[in-house]
Amino acid sequence: MYVTKKSKHERPCLRLESVHNMEKLITDFITRRVSHAAGGTTYREPLVGFARAGDPLFQQLKAVAGPEHLLPEDLLPEARSVVAFFVPFDRELVRVNRLHPYVAREWALAYIETNRLLEDICGELAGELAGYGINVAWQLPTHNFDQQRLVAAWSHKHVAYICGLGTFGRHTMLITARGCAGRLGTLVLDYELRPSSRPEQRFYEKCVKCHYCSEICPVQALGEHGLDKQLCYQYLLEIDAYYADLPVCDVCGKCATGPCAVR
Ligand code: SF4
Ligand code: SF4
Repeated sequence: MYVTKKSKHERPCLRLESVHNMEKLITDFITRRVSHAAGGTTYREPLVGFARAGDPLFQQLKAVAGPEHLLPEDLLPEARSVVAFFVPFDRELVRVNRLHPYVAREWALAYIETNRLLEDICGELAGELAGYGINVAWQLPTHNFDQQRLVAAWSHKHVAYICGLGTFGRHTMLITARGCAGRLGTLVLDYELRPSSRPEQRFYEKCVKCHYCSEICPVQALGEHGLDKQLCYQYLLEIDAYYADLPVCDVCGKCATGPCAVR
């Protein structure tokens, strides 16, 4: 977990903008940063959503994601708001991974580069907000989960759902207004932001007739009862070993190349 803190007497209150402008400032910052991302991965325009730290869904998340799931105030004691952002991959990357007989090297690279980008965005945005006297905490985009039980103490996708970024698909990923092919980042702030509205339903309605993800999964990890995390993760480790010349890339994403990948 990363936390940036300024003591209260350091707060340059004169620079604090209205709540409305602060949401725009955060959205513009993330959008600009994604458009200037280094590396070979190409992105579409990101989505940004907000929730109140006191939203009762954070408590309810303990029932879904496990009792050890953290609350916003566990990350930042004075937490007031939560920010989630989705960085969508471009359509071509999705096509390349869909057609690849295994997992495309480009997809593995995109995973590595985007995890770095998410970390950079969180760190740089925290620095920017510190200039307004706002404290920020965030968790790494991945590899912060229990390796045995495969559960994270801070689930970015569930937090992004609470922030109104989308609904869950059969593949258990979040399907946003720009699809599911991409990566999610989240931050906790001690500043009040206007919460985004959430979609009415929790599940993606088109999943009823579509079984693309469960059919394409190379290890049949997606069944009627959801995702078999152990089966999926064993396959991801296999891919990491296959691309041994790359940094950690336990990723597959075949299930994120279907009709809900790019919207
Ligand atoms: S691939 Fe089809 S079934 Fe799977 S999550 Fe997307 S829309 Fe739903
Ligand atoms: S990431 Fe790959 S192995 Fe895991 S559920 Fe999706 S398609 Fe299956």
